[in-house]
Amino acid sequence: MNYNDFSSLALHADLLKNLSTLGYNEMTPIQAQSLPPILTGRDVIAQGQTGSGKTAAFGLGLLNSLEVKRFYVQSLVLCPTRELADQVAKELRRLARAIHNIKILTLCGGMPFGPQIGSLEHGAHIIVGTPGRIEEHLRKNTLRLDKLSMLVLDEADRMLDMGFQSALDAIIDKMPKARQTLFFSATYPREIQSIAERVMSDPVTIKVESTHDNSSIEEHFFCFEQSLDKDHPRTTALRLLLQHYRPESALVFCNTKRETQEIVNELCRHGFSALALHGDLEQKSRDQILVRFSNKSASILVATDVAARGLDIDSLDAVINYQIARDLEVHTHRIGRTGRAGNKGVACTLYSEKENYKLRKLEDYLNLAISAEPLPEHELLEQATIKPTMATLQIDGGKKQKIRPGDILGALTGKDGIEGKQVGKIHIFDHCAYVAVHQSSVKVALNKLSYGKLKGRSFRARHIRG
Ligand code: AMP
Repeated sequence: MNYNDFSSLALHADLLKNLSTLGYNEMTPIQAQSLPPILTGRDVIAQGQTGSGKTAAFGLGLLNSLEVKRFYVQSLVLCPTRELADQVAKELRRLARAIHNIKILTLCGGMPFGPQIGSLEHGAHIIVGTPGRIEEHLRKNTLRLDKLSMLVLDEADRMLDMGFQSALDAIIDKMPKARQTLFFSATYPREIQSIAERVMSDPVTIKVESTHDNSSIEEHFFCFEQSLDKDHPRTTALRLLLQHYRPESALVFCNTKRETQEIVNELCRHGFSALALHGDLEQKSRDQILVRFSNKSASILVATDVAARGLDIDSLDAVINYQIARDLEVHTHRIGRTGRAGNKGVACTLYSEKENYKLRKLEDYLNLAISAEPLPEHELLEQATIKPTMATLQIDGGKKQKIRPGDILGALTGKDGIEGKQVGKIHIFDHCAYVAVHQSSVKVALNKLSYGKLKGRSFRARHIRG
């Protein structure tokens, strides 16, 4: 028997038989690692991307422990968006084909509430839904989770990014403490760790892909003096690198506050979408800049080391050193910010002929032979710059006005609104909130927010740019 065969697991015979009819002959790595502890009832945190087979990993876990004859909610799967919830429910139904009379119900925001109450009255074994709507059902007593035995958070990192933390807390508060809890997440930021500490018991952690090792970072060195531009040789070299690698999110490091702004001005003048981050910004501006960069409505962040300290941004495609870092340890730290979460990252460093000696020092420090490369072709400067996919809308209401992500998502996706998949990250502060929407949906989204209501009130909304 192969170690990766589903038959090596203690799965019910009907589930096993169905897997072969689905053409699932071998376990994927995330299944092979997570199913054994899941099936023994352990809490599990699994890091894995969409496409890794994670749905079947938790799906088989919850189906295997389900008691069909007991007609109450036994498992809850929380997803960040309606699209994902629909996908998960579809996969669960496929996996459950061999179990008769099983009832799987989706409860998502953006759908009419009334019919959901009707479906709940008919009973369900498994609920798949989005946090805002589930919380609403709990508040209105139309859903009870007091006999729940398994909770799954799918794309947990994304749910936290979208600001669902307090909804999750409220939901978890309404379920028994003695239950099995599974987290599936592409990344493993601090927030996940802290929520796991609160709601899980002795979890097993599984990582399918290494989230960060140096082999996922490609390092390149360029002498900027080759850029042929006499007035702005360094920024021209920077533009060439940006045009060549076309990163969706890039962090550019430089040494001074003044430089951050100068570089940003120069990049914006040439059509890039760049923002400066330095230590002198007021908290509100800093928050706004970080929101715009992390929600992908600005593609370049130019920062000093001090300002970038503690910055927690996943999925940076590139880090560019405008100069070699003064401190060699800082260099390693800077480039370690790319290539996270199993993504391939690029780290580029610009230097001058005069700084050659620094390169040799870095070589010694890293124990690595560094060879400089020619800059990308100059013709690239003629091409269109990469534009961000998202845009940021600011709403003049936040936590203090009791606005939650679900309210914003609901307002955007209701009648004549935009699709859930057009909505990106949602950040809520005390007195304002930011929501990212696809560039193509800005007008409709702004209309929905400006003329619709949130928590029964109108709030001003505007598109942040420049
Ligand atoms: P997911 O990561 O859950 O979105 O799954 C990605 C795709 O892989 C889905 O279409 C599943 O139906 C499929 N899949 C999951 N597990 C297996 C398996 N063990 N063998 C073949 N296909 C699978």
